[in-house]
Parts: sequence; C-alpha cells; structure tokens
Amino acid sequence: MAKVVINPRIRGFICLTAHPAGCAANVRRQIDVATKAGPGKGIANALVIGSSAGYGLASLITLAFGHGANVLGACFERPPQGEKAGSAGWYNLAEVHRLAKDSGRKVETINGDAFAAAGKQAVVDALKARFGKLDYIVYSVATPKRTDPATGTTYASVLKPIGQSYTAKTIDLDADQVKPITINPAVDAEIEATVKVMGGDDWAMWIEALTKADLLAKGCRTVAYSYIGPQITHAIYRAGTIGRAKDHLEATAKQLDAQLRAKVGGRAVVSVNKALVTQASSAIPVVPLYISLLYKVMKEKGCHEGTIEQMVRLWRDHLGPGKEPKLDEHGRVRIDDWEMRADVQQEAQKRWESVTSENLLETSDYAGFKREFRQLYGFELDGVDYVQPVEVDRPLV
Ligand code: NAD
Repeated sequence: MAKVVINPRIRGFICLTAHPAGCAANVRRQIDVATKAGPGKGIANALVIGSSAGYGLASLITLAFGHGANVLGACFERPPQGEKAGSAGWYNLAEVHRLAKDSGRKVETINGDAFAAAGKQAVVDALKARFGKLDYIVYSVATPKRTDPATGTTYASVLKPIGQSYTAKTIDLDADQVKPITINPAVDAEIEATVKVMGGDDWAMWIEALTKADLLAKGCRTVAYSYIGPQITHAIYRAGTIGRAKDHLEATAKQLDAQLRAKVGGRAVVSVNKALVTQASSAIPVVPLYISLLYKVMKEKGCHEGTIEQMVRLWRDHLGPGKEPKLDEHGRVRIDDWEMRADVQQEAQKRWESVTSENLLETSDYAGFKREFRQLYGFELDGVDYVQPVEVDRPLV
C-alpha cells in the first residue's frame, strides 16, 4: 500500500500527475447527472472504445448508468506503479467499476492499444465470453500516434494548417499570457499521417472485426465524434490537418452506415460535439483561448454544457432506443448546435478581437478553463482534501 500526497505537475497542456480521489469525485458527479437524466434501462450491451476520459468516459457513464447497459470499455491508460500515480483515466475507470459493482451494473475494461490486432481480439473474446451482441459501439479514441497493424508503420499526427501558414492568438498555458502564434503549413506526409491516426481507418477495422465475430445485434448503432468549430479556429482545425482526419472519419461513417443498414438494419453516424476541455482539445494551439471565450459566453447565456450533459442529450434526442438521429445536410448529428448559435458566435468573435493578456480574466473564462483542465487530472475538486496522503495503488477493478 502506497499513500502519498499528490500535487499537480503541469507542463503546458499536460499534467504529469493525477489524483485518485479527485478523479473519483469527478466521475461521481458525471454518474449523478447521467443517473438522474436517464430512463435507467433500455439498452442491453455496448462497447465504448476510448472509454477512460473525455467524451468516451461520458458515453460509457451515460450508457451504463443512464440506460442500464452492460458496457465493455477499451482504453490505453497507465497503471500506478508503487508510489507513482497512474494516469487519470485509470482512476476514472476504477471509480466507475466500483460504483457499477455497488449498484449491480456490469462494466468491464480492456486496457491496451485498441489499434493493435491483439487489443481488438481481447475485446472480441471478452464480448463473446461475457456480454454477447452489441446494440451500441462508440468510437472515441484521441491520441497523437497510431501503429497501423496491417503494415507496422507508426504515424504521428500534427496540428497544422494546410496550404499557408497561420497566425493567430493563443494562450501560453505556463505563463497565462495571450501571445501571437504562427504555425507553418503541413507537408503532404503530415496530412496523411494525421488522417491515419485520427481518421476513420481504425473505426472501420473495429466494425469489420466485430462483424466477423458476429457481435452486432439487430439494429446495432455505431457513433464516432467530430468537430467543426467557428471561423476563429477554422484554419487550424477544420481546414487544417485534423480537419482532414475528420473529413475522413465522416466519409467512413457513410460507408459504415451502408454496411450496417444492409447487414443488421443498423446505423453508423458521426456526432459533431461541442468544444470542451479534455486532454485532447487542450493540446490544439489556439483552441484553449477559444474555449475560454466560448465558456464565458455560453455560461452568461445559460447554455453551457460539459461532456456528460452533451452525451446525455445525444442519447436522449438522437441515439437512444427508438430515436431517429436528426441529421444535418451532410448526414451528421449536431450537438454543437448551441455552440454554433449565431448570437454565441458573434459574442465569442467580438471578445476574440479584444482579448489580451491584461483583460484575459474579465473577457474570457480562462479561470474556468484552468480549473476544468486541472479537474481532468483530479485536482481542484470540491470536497477533496489534497493535503492528505492518498492511496495511489488502486486496482482498476
Ligand atoms: P480524450 O483525450 O479525453 O480521451 C481519449 C480516449 O482515447 C481515452 O480514453 C484514451 O485512453 C483513449 N485512447 C487513446 N489512445 C488509445 C489507444 N491506442 N487504444 C485505446 N484507447 C486509446 O479525448 P476527447 O477530447 O474526449 O476526444 C474523443 C473524440 O471526441 C475525438 O474524436 C475528438 O476529436 C472528438 N471531439 C472532441 C471535442 C473536444 O472539444 N474535446 C469536440 C468534438 C469532438
């Protein structure tokens, strides 16, 4: 047993430590929201790939606690080692497992590289042995690297504009300063690599493996998450390398939709979600400043949501049993609709133009951004005594 005091060690957009009790508190809040909002039943079996953090964790919680599903999650998290804390996702799922067990629910996790053939096989074996056919498959992986199991080539994604360099404002997260940033355009190999990592290749491989293993229930639905965003981030996000990957993901959804309709009368859709503070989004240049402005505007207008509120709404209005997903002209679900409202965007744009280091705290919700960022790693949660040593060697199950 290893009890230690854990403090945040933050380097730019990464926190090197995680607090088990804080991560647990974060998860309990989400479970509370999902339990209150959901019907409590209606879905038999679900698989969530990328289940330990961000939108995937909120999907798992919505499915298990809001809709009574048995959920198998797949993620890639670092276990604790002696006195060294594990990653936040490890502690998030440890708390999910504990509360699922307490309330008689079935949640299991396969921790390993979901891109690898062995990772997929472990999931297939667990589903066959203990779950059965799937009603829902959520694909919510975000990562900077992927080794393609077919070729053994490792690809690294980049966050760059395409065609011409891009100059904008960004926040230096270590210095809390608004600074100019110029990012040079990606070369073709970088665009291709980003599509390989964050496009739809791996999602399609999962659906193929699960189809071959006869694990798709009648009417099975699969969803992956995308983002569009405003004019402010257009050059670095939707028109940049990550946007190309999202174009590929959305094109993959169309192919998978045709396959699933024909095979099991199912659906494959992309849901365009709201910009939120997660480990993945914090790493994108310019985005933390946009999110800080967006949060301020959406909180003032009373239409702010977090990951769990977004996922509750996704299943309530679009994906839940008997619901027909409402799609835009490109075939996508849009739960970024409140973010993209004209009044919200006009105000965010206005603030974007005037924001400086000096007025950052009044013009934006940078304080809220920082707090949520730390909360992702289990810090700054109400009711947690950070002075006390805490047990870090917590098993996943
Ligand atoms: P996140 O960083 O919070 O979570 C990523 C998840 O992927 C974790 O569970 C992690 O363990 C898992 N993962 C990473 N590599 C893996 C691997 N090799 N094998 C298995 N699991 C692995 O990310 P997020 O922000 O929730 O992003 C999830 C999806 O949502 C992405 O497609 C992202 O583009 C999309 N999205 C995010 C936002 C946002 O603002 N955060 C908005 C819209 C859409």
